[in-house]
Order: sequence, then structure tokens, then C-alpha cells
Amino acid sequence: MLPWCILLMAVVPVVADPLATTYAIHSSCSPYPAVLQAVTEAIKMASLASQHLEAEDDWEKYDTFGLGAAFRLVWNIADRDDYEVALDQVSTIFGSIAETRPGDSFSGADIHIYCDNDERWKLAKDRTALGPLMQGDPAPLPNSREHPDQQIWVDNTSGVYHIGIPACFYDTTAVTYTKAIRSPFHSRPPARRAAITICNDGLKRYSTLDGYIDIKTGIDLSKIGVGAVSVFLSHTILHELTHTLPYEVNDDEDNPYGWEHSIQKHTDAALDNADNYAYFGALALLFEKGYMLTPDAIGAEMGVLVQRPRERNLSPV
Ligand SMILES: [Zn+2]
Repeated sequence: MLPWCILLMAVVPVVADPLATTYAIHSSCSPYPAVLQAVTEAIKMASLASQHLEAEDDWEKYDTFGLGAAFRLVWNIADRDDYEVALDQVSTIFGSIAETRPGDSFSGADIHIYCDNDERWKLAKDRTALGPLMQGDPAPLPNSREHPDQQIWVDNTSGVYHIGIPACFYDTTAVTYTKAIRSPFHSRPPARRAAITICNDGLKRYSTLDGYIDIKTGIDLSKIGVGAVSVFLSHTILHELTHTLPYEVNDDEDNPYGWEHSIQKHTDAALDNADNYAYFGALALLFEKGYMLTPDAIGAEMGVLVQRPRERNLSPV
């Protein structure tokens, strides 16, 4: 007979974490099935990064042949204080993104993902107000007469607004909108609502590192370097997910994109720059695939990847 505790475990259904953020992919992405693969891989990157960081708890234990060296490089860790601040924040964000799940319905999901090149956005009607005017505020210009940089645009499907022309109308790969409409004209969206648009430029990208590595079996990734992961949509999606609520990681004002720029930031700036998270997530996936940053410091700064030693060489069993 089975012990009662095992029986109990067998009958308790697995319930998804009610606090986990949910996402839904809009029908505009139907022609692009690779988007779901890229979202799935982005969440997997966060999960692998989180698993590594759970084991990373000792400033003194410098782990050249693991992700510890990458962690120190990506967040420019110079001392124990940097280490502890970065480990706490990065672990929290990756741990939470790792829990992101598909939503039960489009309207109820926290994060909406679109492939419409921002075509859904409409210039707000002149009567639309984002909130009550404070006493003494000048009456605003009608929206239609505002400067384009100041005009209010509305995404009525997700219930978010944006000031200025939506980003896909410029040369952008993807963009995240998180400003919820607070207006009597719109119902209130979920508290963590974000709308991510993968712009036409982003839809041309390779979808996943996983697929690429599988297709190119035997490829020498050391000839590519980690900087090249920015051509993968999964890297872009992980970048965008860090912009969503409640994390709201920014793009640093100073050179926010690219491997070389990301690793030159001081820890505080790196912790508030989305691309740093996207590169570390990619490194966590590459590590699982058998690649790591070279132990050579100059080479690592250039993003050179090497095949990592087999597990049996890393730690005694
Ligand atoms: Zn960004």
C-alpha cells in the first residue's frame, strides 16, 4: 500500500501560480508561428538564468568555468556590495519572468503581444483626457492640434496609451507599452498590463537560438560571439519582457543596446538596462547548449564563446 502522503500528492491537481504574469499572443501574429517559439525560449532563458543564480551565493567563489564569470562581466561586479545588490535584483526579475504563463483569454492576460507593426494605434479623440486636470493647470490643446511629439495615441485593445508617434513607425525592432489608460472612457485593464509590439523589422529575425543551433549542428559558435545573439527574436522578447510591469527595467540613456555597450556600464546602470538581462539570459541558454564565454578576460569582453568543459571536469561527483 502506498503511504498516505503519496496518495495525497497524487490527487492534488497542479494549480498555476495565481500571481504569475500571463501573456497572450494577438491574432496579428497568426502568420508568424515562430513568435510563440521565441516567447517560449525567452521565458526558458529567464528560467535557466534564475536556476543558475539560485546556486550563486558566494562572492568569494569565483566560478571561471560557469556562468559566474558571465554574471560578473554583464553587471560589472567590482566588489561584494555590487555582487549582493545585483544578485538580489537580477534573481528576482529572472525568477519572476520564468513564471510567465500563457493566459486563459486574450482580454484577461497581463501581457499582449502584437505583430501588427503598431497599426492598431489610433490618435486619441480630442475629448480624451488621461486624468483630471489639477487646479491651475492650463487647459490642454485639443489632441489633434498638439505637436506630434505630444499627441496622445491610444491602443483600445490593450487599454494603454502612448505620447508621441508609436515606435514601429520608426526603425524599431520591438517596443513595450505599459501606460494604462486611466479615463472614464475606458475600462481599467489588469494592473500589470503591457502591450508588446514586434515590429516588421523584428519579425524578419531568426526566431530562436535553440532552432538555429539545432539546424547548424556542429556550428562553431566561437566564430560568432555572444554579441550576435541580438539577431534572435527570443533575445528581443526577453529584452521587452524586462520592460513590463512590475520590473520596468529601462533602456539606459547612454548606448542601451549591444554587447560591447552593455558590459561597459556601471552596475547601477547595467541593472536598469534591458539588454544586459537579455544577454545574460542568452548566455544561460548557450551554457546549457555547451557554450560559455572564454575564460580569457579580453576575449570575454569581445563576447568570444568557447565550448565549455564537460560537466565531469567541473566538479567532483
Ligand atoms: Zn528596450
